[in-house]
Amino acid sequence: MRASLLHWYDRSARPLPWRREPRDPYLTWVVETMSQQTRIETVVARLPGFLARFPDVGRLAAADPGEVLAAWSGLGYYRRARALHAAARVIAHDLDGRWPSDVAGWLRLPGVGPYTAAAVAAQALGIATIAVDGNVRRVGARLLGLREPTDADVRRGLAELLLVPGAGSSATPVAGAADDPARVAEALVELGAVVCTPRRPRCDDCPLRSGCAAAAAGDPTRFPAPRRRPRVQPLTLHAWWVTRAGEDGRDRMALERRPEDGLWAGLHGPPWRTEAPAVGTRVASFRHLLTHRRIEAIVWRTPTPPADAEVAWYRRDEALALGLARIDRRALACLDGHGALG
Ligand code: SF4
Repeated sequence: MRASLLHWYDRSARPLPWRREPRDPYLTWVVETMSQQTRIETVVARLPGFLARFPDVGRLAAADPGEVLAAWSGLGYYRRARALHAAARVIAHDLDGRWPSDVAGWLRLPGVGPYTAAAVAAQALGIATIAVDGNVRRVGARLLGLREPTDADVRRGLAELLLVPGAGSSATPVAGAADDPARVAEALVELGAVVCTPRRPRCDDCPLRSGCAAAAAGDPTRFPAPRRRPRVQPLTLHAWWVTRAGEDGRDRMALERRPEDGLWAGLHGPPWRTEAPAVGTRVASFRHLLTHRRIEAIVWRTPTPPADAEVAWYRRDEALALGLARIDRRALACLDGHGALG
């Protein structure tokens, strides 16, 4: 099975820019972090800019937090950027610039969960482990014929099928070898992304078909059973957008820095509140979806910020350079239609 999978991968894998030798822990870690909840086309587009600004872990560790958030702008889920930065500082300062040499070491870094730890360990360090994300969970559940597997079930089952016992057990990469855990890890993710897809698995094109329990059962999409989705909470928020003319004649907008927890933590943006301003003009509204929230966003132009807001004043170009969240950029676009903020 391993040989079929790797043969298929070598012939069919998409030529993504980070799939290259020698494998680099920094690049792998940044890509895996960026790829969470983000489309691969977006990662391909945004990665070069991030790497140009922060080409190695030392440069990332030395950066100002605002600079990192600005480079992350447009990727969403800014908690990932903050954790990446915090982990870079741990590596640079506490580990003297050395990478953790096993999965447990990666797991101790801020923001690194079981998938990322295993993915970097397998892909960049050649350690024999299976990284279980949504794609790999689906492939594993189908191959093994499991309706409600835990990640540990999938990891154990796929390791027995696809990894050579003892292979890659040191931190020495074994790239290109027949038992290369790095290629197994990438091949599983690739298979889940392009062949063993959620609704239309292409079993006829699959290198693992002969050993697949779900294909043998005749209806692979029954595996795994759908997970119950968390309830999406509705929320109405009002953007208090306040501007004033600067001494140079250009408008400034009032932005506050959000607290370190909660929605859009640590980012700058206009004050969003559950109450509308008492005085002001309602400019526009739109619906904004987050994983667990359905936000009715209402944008106001108002003469004064909320009493509890600590704001600073920014030109439009300065505000954009701060790395506004997507909801703030949408609100700004609404104002652009009303002659604001040149
Ligand atoms: S044979 Fe079909 S269900 Fe099984 S792993 Fe391949 S694509 Fe998925």
